[in-house]
Amino acid sequence: MSGQPSLEQREKPKVLVVDDDVSVRDIVVESINSAGYMVDSCGNGQEALEKNKAENYDLILTDMMMPSLDGLSLIKNLNLQNNDTDVIVITGFGSIENAVECMKAGALDYLIKPFTLDQIQMSVRRAIEHRELRLRARERDLYRQLSYEDPLTGIYNRRFFDESLKLEIVKANRHSTPVLLFMIDIDYFKIYNDLQGHQKGDKILVEMGQILKSSCRGYDIVTRYGGEEFAIIFPGIAKEEAPNLVSRIMEGVRNGSFDGADRMPFGSMTVSIGIASFPDDATNGEDIIRCADVSLYAAKRAGRNTVKIYGSP
Ligand code: GH3
Ligand code: MG
Ligand code: MG
Repeated sequence: MSGQPSLEQREKPKVLVVDDDVSVRDIVVESINSAGYMVDSCGNGQEALEKNKAENYDLILTDMMMPSLDGLSLIKNLNLQNNDTDVIVITGFGSIENAVECMKAGALDYLIKPFTLDQIQMSVRRAIEHRELRLRARERDLYRQLSYEDPLTGIYNRRFFDESLKLEIVKANRHSTPVLLFMIDIDYFKIYNDLQGHQKGDKILVEMGQILKSSCRGYDIVTRYGGEEFAIIFPGIAKEEAPNLVSRIMEGVRNGSFDGADRMPFGSMTVSIGIASFPDDATNGEDIIRCADVSLYAAKRAGRNTVKIYGSP
């Protein structure tokens, strides 16, 4: 979706008519024109491909039998161009089977000759409307995704964490399964910033996010909770499994390449972790966060580079 202008920015839809029969071509062009769309035309598939590379049409209406490159080959080549142009094929009664082949290859619709101006306009209008709806839906997905993403680290943000934790606890309640929560805070991060500068500090946060993600399974929810603090939700994982997960994370952090971390108090980048569990320690989202925070604070007080599990000595 990158590079796609938003709906408000998009200009009039652009349509290309491809037919080697000039009289058919002129009729089609005229009717699309009078429906209020911008329209170009050309005489074969090869030209159409070239023009589309430059213009990136919203919709192409193409004849099937043409010299140099026929309609079906045009569709297949457009798929390779990977630019999301819609295609309507124009066909005679005798070649409806070929039109179906074109639909299988990705064409949106077909028009059977002879057709009226109304039919052309209706078909084009419907295609363009579908297209706008599709782009709008895609845009919504993108915005939704962006609103859940931490812009610095690219991992999930606090908003996603809050919503996920609630959801996972509802699910865990229903299925009587556990949820484990890790709160992870980088040790002495203020010192790192003071020594290396804020920009290098940012890079550490990005690196840390990647390490945490790659230390977890695909369905564990790794998030940046805020500042230099990360939170991970482990759905379906019981407290007894916490030590295993901790070793994986601590090993990941130990093996991380953190530029300039040798000047930190421990001689390397370290984290402290506080852990709490549903339903052992808490039965709702707020309480499990509070318990994990209490554990994290205990880990810091115990000297940092340490893990505390709520309720354990
Ligand atoms: P502790 O071991 O007790 O956690 O000490 P700390 O220095 O890590 O904790 P403190 O809360 O005193 O300081 C957190 C630091 O994290 C201060 C703040 O500037 C830094 N920080 C928070 N967000 C960002 C960020 O987005 N980028 C950078 N570079 N630094 C950040
Ligand atoms: Mg810290
Ligand atoms: Mg902190």
